[in-house]
Amino acid sequence: MRKIIVAIDGWSSCGKSTMARQLASKLNYLFIDSGAMYRAITLFFSRNSIGLGSMDNVKQALSQINLEFVFNKENGNTEICLNKENVENLIRNFDIAARVSEVASNSFVREFAVAEQQKIGKCKGIVMDGRDIGTTVFPDAELKIFVTADIKTRVLRRYKELILKSPEITLDEVQHNLEARDHMDSNREISPLRQADDALLLDNTNLTPSQQLDIVLNWASAKMAV
Ligand code: C5P
Repeated sequence: MRKIIVAIDGWSSCGKSTMARQLASKLNYLFIDSGAMYRAITLFFSRNSIGLGSMDNVKQALSQINLEFVFNKENGNTEICLNKENVENLIRNFDIAARVSEVASNSFVREFAVAEQQKIGKCKGIVMDGRDIGTTVFPDAELKIFVTADIKTRVLRRYKELILKSPEITLDEVQHNLEARDHMDSNREISPLRQADDALLLDNTNLTPSQQLDIVLNWASAKMAV
């Protein structure tokens, strides 16, 4: 069996990371949530009041950022560290979600994050999810999957996660955030979110996580056996 790269892209909150994590665990591959990198950069920018208006400030800020992923044995997750601080929980809140797409549309931020992602994927044996993995980060990935689900299903899934941290959040706010991010992500100038020509489409609106895992495991096995 050859080692491959699995690139998973798709709309916000359609279960890409869950699928990627489960697939990586089954294949004994590294799982990388590229969105966590953009969220951690956004956290750094917010903490240090870095605006996007000055390219020099953005470049200077990026030069102070070190991102690493660590494996948490207790929960089996790959978690992100920002300058050695585990920020996995801090980046999952609504404030970061509200700003991340704007930060992720900056050309220097993207250049920085993509270079880091390509470094991590050098040895293959990786499942990475995001918005531009199959189109920009790994255009030669052996398996590309584009995930979608209907908006109501996606809103409900994200709402159930966020309500645990922010009990005041409403369904409308979550829907607005998902739609705003999808719009920005698919309309930005650099590496907009789109399905790569050679990506397989997976609509998981009516699939359980285990049904969707079966489908992608079959796809991966076929590619690994070539
Ligand atoms: O995947 P997640 O929802 O955590 O990603 C947060 C945001 O990071 C996305 O809405 C998008 O703006 C940005 N992102 C990106 N490219 C990626 C992954 C995420 O622009 N490869």
